[in-house]
Amino acid sequence: ERALAATREVGESDLENRLRPARLAEFIGQPRVREQLDLVLQGALRRGRPPDHVLLSGPPGLGKTSLAMIIGTELGSAVRITSGPALERAGDLAAMLSNLVEGDVLFIDEIHRMARPAEEMLYLAMEDFRVDIIVGKGPGATSIPLDVAPFTLVGATTRAGSLTGPLRDRFGFTGHMEFYDPEDLELVVARSAEILEVDLRPDGGREIAHRSRGTPRIANRLLRRVRDYAEVRADGSVTREVARAALAVYDVDELGLDRLDRAVLGALVRSFGGGPVGVSTLAVAVGEEPGTVEEVCEPYLVRAGMLARTPRGRVATPAAWRHLGEKPPDRQNP
Ligand code: ATP
Repeated sequence: ERALAATREVGESDLENRLRPARLAEFIGQPRVREQLDLVLQGALRRGRPPDHVLLSGPPGLGKTSLAMIIGTELGSAVRITSGPALERAGDLAAMLSNLVEGDVLFIDEIHRMARPAEEMLYLAMEDFRVDIIVGKGPGATSIPLDVAPFTLVGATTRAGSLTGPLRDRFGFTGHMEFYDPEDLELVVARSAEILEVDLRPDGGREIAHRSRGTPRIANRLLRRVRDYAEVRADGSVTREVARAALAVYDVDELGLDRLDRAVLGALVRSFGGGPVGVSTLAVAVGEEPGTVEEVCEPYLVRAGMLARTPRGRVATPAAWRHLGEKPPDRQNP
């Protein structure tokens, strides 16, 4: 999967962990989510009870996993980690739940991809801290109730819209993660450079921040690529010139768009006359899964004002035509 390949390069996941902020106060940007979450956690600590369940939603790489770990640290609780696709059967979830101790944080990444029977079991666990284990089949089947230690569920999703209503309703708090401003990303890159002992100059940091698609994970990845370039082809310092030259080698353009972003815009403009075209057709044209185009690629293209989602399909904006060096048609399709 491109999202994974692009964002979790082999051997670099350790580095990513070293770069994770450990406490809420160290977490850069997202002021709204940070303030809201701080209140949720402080309130719970005062009452001496686990906080409400927390849902974190937003595009990949914005810090959902980091926040889940921070919630555990701030509460002084252990974090048990799983993911929606790993919970194929209700039994998988039951095993996880029965191992929890009071106050634990259960983190379910990609919670929208959980199988239905597991999801139904989760409702009851979230609400009443118990599960019903069904034993046997047909008319002879019985259900055995099992208590679960009071815990806090932290769910992360790139598509809050595809969670079922009953699941969404059982979260006491939803944090909507937004793309980061370049100013916040500059702070992220500066912090990472310090941890990695990279000689990053302010103008170099600014250049990287502006080309990171509003995403800290990408900012950290570009910093590592630019560092390679600085060490191999220059004197090791990351200046603006070094950053620009390095990013050109890695096909990251002035706006931070990568190969897939440009492929999507290119297909939209050159093969479909600017749209409207359905996301599945567009995905086939660039050889990607529709989910990847929709969840990884499009949110930033929309935010950058390059692509519009309309009821009839995806449409390239005049800015997209110009970015590709094409002349926009006189009248855009609606
Ligand atoms: P995914 O949804 O793909 O799991 P995510 O949204 O959970 O992604 P994280 O894995 O938490 O993203 O963050 C990716 C990397 O970005 C982390 O290693 C961390 O170094 C960095 N990062 C994220 N948010 C921040 C932040 N607010 N301050 C500093 N670094 C951050």
